[in-house]
Amino acid sequence: MDYQAVINRIISEANSFLGKGKIADYIPALAEVSSDRLGIAVNLVDGRTFKTGDADIPFSIQSISKVFTLSMVVGAIGEDLWNSVGREPSGNPFNSLVQLEHEKGIPRNPFINAGAIVVTDRLISLYPRPKEAILDFVRSIAGNADIYYDTRVAISERENADRNMALAYFMKSFGNIHNDVEMLIDVYCHQCALSMSCSDLSRAFLLYANRGVNPQNDVRILTESQTKRLGAVMSTCGFYDESGDFAYRVGLPGKSGVGGGIAAYMPGKLAISVWSPELNNFGNSLAGIEILERFTTDIQRSIF
Ligand code: GLN
Repeated sequence: MDYQAVINRIISEANSFLGKGKIADYIPALAEVSSDRLGIAVNLVDGRTFKTGDADIPFSIQSISKVFTLSMVVGAIGEDLWNSVGREPSGNPFNSLVQLEHEKGIPRNPFINAGAIVVTDRLISLYPRPKEAILDFVRSIAGNADIYYDTRVAISERENADRNMALAYFMKSFGNIHNDVEMLIDVYCHQCALSMSCSDLSRAFLLYANRGVNPQNDVRILTESQTKRLGAVMSTCGFYDESGDFAYRVGLPGKSGVGGGIAAYMPGKLAISVWSPELNNFGNSLAGIEILERFTTDIQRSIF
């Protein structure tokens, strides 16, 4: 399979799917990003790499960080996490509050904001220096010691975090948050402000394609079973209320962020990341999904 030819062809057709979405504008730092940014990186578990376009420009990974914090917590406490977070698709927007009262402060899954906030709360209880721990983890799986928090994005996120604060306080009222909410949302805003390129994200997602072993140093981080379970949650919940359509069109486990990034993988084979900042109505990269659909169609493989 000539992956370079496949991604070159897809990017050359990009004009047909750019200009149709809307850049995230809830904070100025995201609204300023140029809408025609477009990158693709593919990393194979055998070590080969392919990239095109803006694949090496760092961007705000936003909710893709939820996979990394979940991996850290599942790796540390295993199944116990599922007493406080569910693993069902929510069918609701990523920042929705509506199901939380009915479900007694237990969020539907770890990839909507409420669920990710619970995961970060557990992470804070596990690590005395949680921001440093997240950065160390991401740097180690991406094999890039230069990955950083974009503090301008983090501060701006923190200034516009009323809804995430509300989610955290509401869950705390049910006893499902154990740490100080101000501190918790500060850590959560930082993880969203991690700055990584498509190449970084693809290398990091090789961890999942490689069944839980960090391909950078051959150290096992997740068990086979934990990796399978994380993949199951990515494929059912990774794209909020568009998760079903993503499985239908693309057929890979993955995760999106409102910075316009998507990282996905094929178990045992490869990881792929795309970046295009314009979002669809579900907060997922419009061109990113189009590119991934074309990719799995062209290579004639998916998890199904
Ligand atoms: N920082 C965003 C938030 O918490 C992340 C959302 C996302 O990427 N979907 O609202």
